[in-house]
Amino acid sequence: MQLDRPVVVASQNPDKIAEIEEVLGDLGIVVARGYEWPEVDETEPTLGGNALLKARAVADHTGLPAIGDDTGLEVNALGGAPGVLTARYAGPNASYSQNVAKLLVELSGCDDRSARFRTAVALVTPGGDEVVVEGVLEGEIGTEPSGESGFGYDPVFVVGGRTLAEMGSAEKHRISHRGRALRALRAALENRRDPGG
Ligand code: IMP
Repeated sequence: MQLDRPVVVASQNPDKIAEIEEVLGDLGIVVARGYEWPEVDETEPTLGGNALLKARAVADHTGLPAIGDDTGLEVNALGGAPGVLTARYAGPNASYSQNVAKLLVELSGCDDRSARFRTAVALVTPGGDEVVVEGVLEGEIGTEPSGESGFGYDPVFVVGGRTLAEMGSAEKHRISHRGRALRALRAALENRRDPGG
C-alpha cells in the first residue's frame, strides 16, 4: 500500500490526535487537518475492530486515507479490565481523573499492580486497503497520581519507576504503546511496498 497522500487522524480526542501527529511527523507521514465527520460509535468487542470502524468511516467520509487508534488499559488483577471500556471506566462521560480515581479504588490493597497499555492502529484507504497493527507497553499502576504531562491514565502508569506523566512527550513516544503501534504501521507499509517482501 502506498501512502503518498496526507492521512486523516480518525479521532475526536485532542490529546490522542496531538500524540499521533507528533509520531507520524517523525515517521515522515503527512497529516491532513481541518476535516470533520459524524461521531463513530465504538461498538466492536476488540480494540482492532474499533480502530477499523473509526478509520473506515473517516476514509469513507473524507476520501482520504484514515488512521484510527483504539487504546485499552489491561490490569492483570482486574482480569484485563477496563480493556475496551477504558475511556468509559467510571461512566459514559467520565473525566480522566474520575477514571483514574475508580482504578485506584478498585486496586486498593492489591499487591499485583501489573498492567499494560495496548493500542490498535488501523489504516484504511478510500480504495478499501486495510492494515491493522498493535503496540503494547507493560508497566504497573502506581498508588497515587504523579506528573503533569500526557493524558488519561498517564499519571498512574509507572514504567521503570516513573509515571508516563513524569516523562516528556518524546520519551513517552519512544516507549509507548501508541509510538510502537505507529512505527509498526510504518514498517508494515514499507514491507508491502517491497516486491520481494
Ligand atoms: P479510546 O482509545 O478512545 O477508546 O480511549 C481510551 C482511553 O484510554 C482514553 O480516553 C484515555 O483515558 C486512555 N488512554 C488512551 N491512550 C492513553 C495514553 O497514551 N495514556 C494514558 N491514557 C490513555
